[in-house]
Amino acid sequence: MHVLAKPIGPVCNINCDYCFYLEKRALFGQGENYRMPDEVLSAYISQYVKSQPTPVVEFVWHGGEPTLLGIDFFRKVVELQEPYRCQKKISNVIQTNGTRLNDEWCSFLKSERFMVGISLDGPKDVHDQYRKGRAGQSTFDEVMRGVKLLQKHSVEFNVLACVGRETAYQPLDVYHFFKNEKIKFIQFTPIVERLPDAKTRNQGLCLAPPATLDREEANTQVTPWTVEPEKYGDFLIAIYDEWVRKDVGEVFVMNFEWALNSWIGNPSPVCVFSRTCGRAVAMEHNGNVYACDHYVYPEYLLGNVLKDDLRQMVERSVASGFGPHKEESLPRWCRECEMLNACWGGCPKHRFATSPYGEPGLHYLCAGYKKFFMYIRKYQRVMTTLVENGLPASRVMDVIKAPIMIVRDRI
Ligand code: SF4
Ligand code: SF4
Repeated sequence: MHVLAKPIGPVCNINCDYCFYLEKRALFGQGENYRMPDEVLSAYISQYVKSQPTPVVEFVWHGGEPTLLGIDFFRKVVELQEPYRCQKKISNVIQTNGTRLNDEWCSFLKSERFMVGISLDGPKDVHDQYRKGRAGQSTFDEVMRGVKLLQKHSVEFNVLACVGRETAYQPLDVYHFFKNEKIKFIQFTPIVERLPDAKTRNQGLCLAPPATLDREEANTQVTPWTVEPEKYGDFLIAIYDEWVRKDVGEVFVMNFEWALNSWIGNPSPVCVFSRTCGRAVAMEHNGNVYACDHYVYPEYLLGNVLKDDLRQMVERSVASGFGPHKEESLPRWCRECEMLNACWGGCPKHRFATSPYGEPGLHYLCAGYKKFFMYIRKYQRVMTTLVENGLPASRVMDVIKAPIMIVRDRI
């Protein structure tokens, strides 16, 4: 199981157009103190370590913007984790917009070996298109200052780049920018949200809730920043084309790594492309646990870490059908798809499209996913063959220039 902790709830110092989490303030009353109390933090750390059967326990601190809590909050995190370090290897990941990082933060992150995820969408014009300050101002320079500080302090970090409607038209600008900035670990996340219907708007929410999967959605109107399905596929293909010729083994685009992983036959490391989901829950600042980061709605509340057992909450969620439903509700269009093992229908939240057979529950991005997965097949085959023969996958770059001959030793 995997918990995404939100120690400051939906509070953030900036105001990105496409953020799906800012609106979660509507779940809490006026005057809410969005700060994880010590008793919740302590109960969470203890329960999370004990509930994990694995030798490594990874804590993920997400937001809102977790650095708003200050370094002392995270010093306390490390202190509370300390007694468990003799039982398990404990690691921390913090996802941040990077605008508040300074030397003190970076020294702390380095010394405590935090892995940092930075939200950065690309060069200035691309990034500022959607990632804006509270007054609508640019945030790019502040984020880049944070990136430079992480590099100066040799803090391990990766970039989480969102692909909105406009971003999708500039794939190589985005990719070249990251390469020029010596950013080697990149993950692309497509932006998909629907506009709310009247009922949802009355609840104080600005975005539509997850798709129902079982019936055709009346509301399929997406937000202006939602990426167009085929364009998302084109975006990934354009970057893949360059990466597979020049950068394999040097630049790590997680979307490409996951695809290769599925091709080899391993289960996907990400829920979106897994057969089922349900074991990646989200925990709010007050200890409330929800079925998933994308399902933080009252009807998906599983319990609270102060009074409920974390593992049992997750088991209950899976037993209720939340996770298995991802596969069980796949339309025939997906079941017959050649790319099923790489895609598994995508995240159910965004399966609000209707398939060509007229079935509900098809992913909005299907056309893009399919185009991308089909396009990269030929390269995936080569990389798999290389790996099976004890050669690095990066030799695919040689194969593209000219065929290579693999000679096996005779026994
Ligand atoms: S609902 Fe979507 S984001 Fe949540 S666990 Fe399932 S696939 Fe992942
Ligand atoms: S590519 Fe489309 S049809 Fe194929 S599994 Fe994914 S969502 Fe379904």
